[in-house]
Amino acid sequence: MTATSRIWTARVLTLFPEMFPGMLGHSLAGKALDRGQWALSTLDIRDFAEDSHRSVDDTPFGGGAGMVMRADVVDRAVDAALRADEADGGGSPAVYLTPRGRVLDQERVRALANGPGVILLCGRYEGIDQRVLDARGVEEVSLGDFVLSGGEPAALALIDACIRLLPGVMGDEGSLEEESFEGGLLEYPHYTRPAEWCGRMVPDVLLSGHHAKISAWRRAESERITRERRPDLWARYERSATVADGKRAK
Ligand code: SAH
Repeated sequence: MTATSRIWTARVLTLFPEMFPGMLGHSLAGKALDRGQWALSTLDIRDFAEDSHRSVDDTPFGGGAGMVMRADVVDRAVDAALRADEADGGGSPAVYLTPRGRVLDQERVRALANGPGVILLCGRYEGIDQRVLDARGVEEVSLGDFVLSGGEPAALALIDACIRLLPGVMGDEGSLEEESFEGGLLEYPHYTRPAEWCGRMVPDVLLSGHHAKISAWRRAESERITRERRPDLWARYERSATVADGKRAK
């Protein structure tokens, strides 16, 4: 198969395969899944346990609360996913969802969506024995600075963010271009009918029909909201704007 004809595929390693496709079986993602615009497979990590109790976890070395998912069991599951990916042409990165990972952003989502797919490792309990992550060179990705009870909601969120960027999945491709994080800013606020609601008016400029003024207003709102809410994004945006101005000046 050529790279272009490959279907973007998510392979999820989990102790709870019944949680998939879950919400991704609905709405635009679900329709795209039915149409074959992306594919999903789950591997039950418990199927890779070899003892009579099918145990996947054990107590942590060094003591402490909770259980840790075993390196040998997880490794067999990762190996199976990598071999399945290889059979389809290979190249999908293996990602472990963990609060200790690099926080997921739109840039990484875009890169993953542009690739052949992703292998997602969902943790439970206290997490996974570090050795299997190191040995397999697994990328560690976090959804944000909070703790979930398992990697599955994070995997669903990551897949959702990727598939909405795949060609033909969203009804209106143009709506992707103006979104938050495209161009380094948060999006401007939206309004629809009725023009007056509970004494609150839609900003006049949006009713003016004057496209240039509307664009300028939206741009200014994007900048104001980013500056107020996300000083980190604003600083990066200002730096890149300065660089762009410098290049133009030359
Ligand atoms: N003991 C761990 C938390 C384990 S939570 C710690 O303190 O870092 C159990 C599982 O939920 C993790 O293995 C991971 O797969 C998932 N998880 C929890 N929070 C997450 C987050 N912010 N992003 C991605 N996955 C998360």
